[in-house]
Amino acid sequence: MQDSIRMTQDNTSMKLDMLKGIGPKRRQLLERMGVSTMEDLLLHYPRRYEDRTRLLTLGELQDGQVATCLVSIASVTEQRPRAGLHLLKAGVRDESGAAVATWFNQPFLKARLTAGKLIVLTGKARRQYGRLEIMVQDMEPADEDDERGVAAGSGLIGAGEDRTVGVGEGGASNTGGEQEKGGYGKIIAVYPSSAGLQQKFFRQAIAQVLDTGYPLGEYHSDEFLDEYDLLGRQAAMEAVHRPQSWEDLERARERIIFDEFYFLQLSLALMRGKEVREQGIPHKVLGYLTDDWIRRLPFALTGAQERVIGEIREDMEKPYAMARLVQGDVGSGKTAVAAWALLLTVENGCQGAMMAPTEILAQQHYETLSAWFSPLGVSVGFFAGGAPQSEARRLRDALASGAIQVAVGTHALIQEKVVFQRLGLAVIDEQHRFGVRQRGLLQEKGDHPDTLIMSATPIPRTLAMTVYGDLDVSKLDEMPPGRKPVKTLCILEKARDKLYRFLHGQLSMGDQAFVVCPLIEESEVMDIQNAEEVYRLMCDKMKPHKVGLLHGRMSAGEKESVMSAFAEGRIPILVSTTVVEVGVNVPAATVMVIENSERFGLAQLHQLRGRVGRGEGQAYCILVTNTDEPLALQRLKLMTETNDGFLLAEEDLVLRGPGEIFGARQHGLPEFRLAKLPEDMIAMEKARQAAFALVHDDPTLEKPQHERLRRMIDRLMEDMVKG
Ligand code: ADP
Ligand code: MG
Repeated sequence: MQDSIRMTQDNTSMKLDMLKGIGPKRRQLLERMGVSTMEDLLLHYPRRYEDRTRLLTLGELQDGQVATCLVSIASVTEQRPRAGLHLLKAGVRDESGAAVATWFNQPFLKARLTAGKLIVLTGKARRQYGRLEIMVQDMEPADEDDERGVAAGSGLIGAGEDRTVGVGEGGASNTGGEQEKGGYGKIIAVYPSSAGLQQKFFRQAIAQVLDTGYPLGEYHSDEFLDEYDLLGRQAAMEAVHRPQSWEDLERARERIIFDEFYFLQLSLALMRGKEVREQGIPHKVLGYLTDDWIRRLPFALTGAQERVIGEIREDMEKPYAMARLVQGDVGSGKTAVAAWALLLTVENGCQGAMMAPTEILAQQHYETLSAWFSPLGVSVGFFAGGAPQSEARRLRDALASGAIQVAVGTHALIQEKVVFQRLGLAVIDEQHRFGVRQRGLLQEKGDHPDTLIMSATPIPRTLAMTVYGDLDVSKLDEMPPGRKPVKTLCILEKARDKLYRFLHGQLSMGDQAFVVCPLIEESEVMDIQNAEEVYRLMCDKMKPHKVGLLHGRMSAGEKESVMSAFAEGRIPILVSTTVVEVGVNVPAATVMVIENSERFGLAQLHQLRGRVGRGEGQAYCILVTNTDEPLALQRLKLMTETNDGFLLAEEDLVLRGPGEIFGARQHGLPEFRLAKLPEDMIAMEKARQAAFALVHDDPTLEKPQHERLRRMIDRLMEDMVKG
């Protein structure tokens, strides 16, 4: 058996049917779980572990105690005391005594409870009148090892070994000298599974792969493993599946998590190295546009804006392509920073592009930049879907000829037919809404243009390293002067009348309000219905004030006319779905009402809150909710207590995981099999250091000893670019 499936180091894609016990049926079930090679099987890490080192005997169980026992089944009965209640009761025993084990409403388990069988039960004990009952929470068939152990140890149980549960198709079992390694210790791995594939099957199949030649090679040299104090790969695989101790398992996890982060960081280090090495445009600060613009600005730049402009200037002057992220809370003045950089590239005879994720936002940028640039004689063009064909063609021609110097738009900018004469700088606003790929596509419109990415999402440092690890980061950590912090209040749905009274008061002073409705369903139609309902309610309660409605299904023209009516104050209240989330700037809007606010992440609430408080007056954010969940209320309370976006983002990361900050399944955030953020933050930093050090030594991984790494990374980067 050993020889038949021994494999070479590089043969990582060996098919599963080489293993005993895997016939067509199981292979199909495994494939449905994404497991189709031996490597996949090894990477099918346990979901959790069961600690059988703390197995108790029935005699030891106290009333009320939750514990795990290894018992044999004596008899099984079914009861239906009333409709909707099904009880499965098994008489069980071990060498210390007997008990009745009860399962509620799981009739299907009956087939697995045969007399004589050994099982490991976890449940709550109840001792009454000398009888012991266990309310079962979890059950597993015992391993053969346990069977032997108990049978030998107690001399009580004639263990009815159940070979139909395990690797039945081939009937594999451990033989002779392999027994020690093939069996599992007292810490038992529990695998993610699906119907038809038992735990024992996974354990035995994985044991075969582990025992009979190892299909996974080592990526790292011995010195490397030494330097970073890591377990070898084989040892790690062995220990993650068959830990001998908890320390053993921890070491295995360390190594596996390190690799997960390491490959990501390595690809980021390579991407960044590539950008740095690549020839870019060496801009020169000539000043006839940049300086002139600063002179004409109605405000003085903040210290942070000046500092960040300095950092951008240094990058742009270099003959390499810049790849810089500007992070700044909503309202910190990122647009002005981008404007300076755009003027610098125009000053050098190049064109600039600025891409925003929504049309409304692109439109705003277009208006802002036109107002700033026209007096300087710099021409700005607007590119979005929906323009009449002839107009779109005229714009594209003007861009290709260089007549348009700065192109502002949505992803319409990355269409194939959009051609620049000479793109010198690509600015991407709110980048996390675009994939790495879209960022790349805009860059490809030029010959290694500089790239500036702007994000208002306060990304905790750990995550920034994951998602933006290939970028240099600048922080706009200062607000323009005169901003009063937004006051945040939480109103319970049942006290909704207070909201209308408050709004009437504000509106009577000439203020304006946003009312934002959350994503309720996965379906856009449902969200719109929800927004329409709120809209009707507002129309009714806010009479005589006019109310506008904005949602994603409206045409560009409709959206624009509602937006401009709101911006000009003709409509004082705007009800919308989350389309206003990013960037919109309406200084007279002082109230942000957020419906069902418990449905938003904190970072997102903070972004929405940033839409108000841009003018002179005191601004308010009102969180409406009908939740009574303590955790949700705690989150909303935190919103009322702090205006610190980074703190809120960190809190989100802890409370709801990284997905929340970027929205579900956002681009660029890889899925790790074992690693978890933020818990494994330190491992991430260690991996990052190691990766950047390696790339520093061998910028293209061309050294022969890095060949395996390089192939691995090529695969990974391909996946990343595909988004
Ligand atoms: P964000 O960083 O959210 O994109 P914006 O660039 O839209 O912020 O700027 C928000 C508002 O602040 C705009 O009205 C802008 O004109 C104004 N602003 C930007 N910089 C300054 C400054 N240094 N002083 C005063 N107002 C500023
Ligand atoms: Mg902005």
